[in-house]
Amino acid sequence: MAYLTLKNINKIYPNGYHAVHNFNLDMEKGEFIVFVGPSGCGKSTTLRMIAGLEDISNGEFLINGKRANEQGPRERGVAMVFQSYALYPQMSVYDNIAFGLELQGADDDYIDEKVRNTARILGLTDYLDRLPRALSGGQRQRVAIGRALIRKVGIFLMDEPLSNLDAKQRVTMRSEITQIHRETGATTIYVTHDQTEAMTMADRIVCMKDGYVQQVGTPRELYFDPVNVFVAGFIGEPPMNFVRSTVKSGKVRIGGKDLDLAPKLGKKLGSWEGKEIVFGFRPESVKLGEHKEAYVMDADVELTEMLGDNTNVYIKMQEQNAILKVDPHDTPEVDTRIVFSIPYESVYLFDGATEMVIK
Ligand code: ADP
Repeated sequence: MAYLTLKNINKIYPNGYHAVHNFNLDMEKGEFIVFVGPSGCGKSTTLRMIAGLEDISNGEFLINGKRANEQGPRERGVAMVFQSYALYPQMSVYDNIAFGLELQGADDDYIDEKVRNTARILGLTDYLDRLPRALSGGQRQRVAIGRALIRKVGIFLMDEPLSNLDAKQRVTMRSEITQIHRETGATTIYVTHDQTEAMTMADRIVCMKDGYVQQVGTPRELYFDPVNVFVAGFIGEPPMNFVRSTVKSGKVRIGGKDLDLAPKLGKKLGSWEGKEIVFGFRPESVKLGEHKEAYVMDADVELTEMLGDNTNVYIKMQEQNAILKVDPHDTPEVDTRIVFSIPYESVYLFDGATEMVIK
């Protein structure tokens, strides 16, 4: 039996806004699940319903198979870390972490052992006497996590916990949170709009759009097997390139070339005749030059961004724009014409009407 179950969960706010539609998910104990999607897609609303901070309008939330809709946050055994990690400014790191246990009236020896153990896991042992203002943003966020972690809870919820940190701190904290999760084994749900956080941290990702779950799967599944244009475009950086075109005589016209879809569609080719499809390829899947078993294209280089480990090449194929990710040693000159190949196996086709992937 799953540890947490969300069964057809809906949220309709008092003003009538339907923020979450038929959300279904089974979560195993110890899993690290990330809810990802653009701002406003219903991630926080879902998390707050799991936390017990927001009523569930419709559907059932089960913990260990038992209905928990009517339970408060404490009964559910949840701890939550928010984006704004308001620490008590006049209290030391030690006291900030200890606060929850002190409120519960735990005895001093127990609290001391717990605080020191939590601080060790979080790398805060040397900072226990400091006030929050004498800490970096990343350290403060670790204290906030420590404060939530110290109470023994079954469910650990985090809502955009890294968004107040600078880019470098975010990268460090990403791996630290993964490490903390490994050490504590807490069942965790983490909300973010950042696909990189989702890809690097999640056991499984729930990708959402406009209140609807689009796909649930491992980072690998979402990257290699996206179910639709939205997921394909949301996961991956830079995003997948998409070109819309109508199938004529088994071909689509892209960048001034007629590309034969037979290698991709095989026996299904005929059924797509006259219909619109979306042709997708990832920037990192192309090879410069002409290769076999691939669509060979040419394009004008409009801009290049050398990022160190790779270069993003912004190209125009006649009327269509796209981005290619190439080895920095192969960075082409701006305003030159290049030839590149998209291996057949790296091309994704989607139904132009439904935007669902064509398998
Ligand atoms: P996310 O976390 O994905 O950014 P939210 O769950 O915060 O999205 O919000 C989902 C949608 O619900 C948004 O359109 C938001 O404006 C709306 N919403 C959030 N809270 C309320 C509320 N209390 N009343 C009405 N609408 C709300």
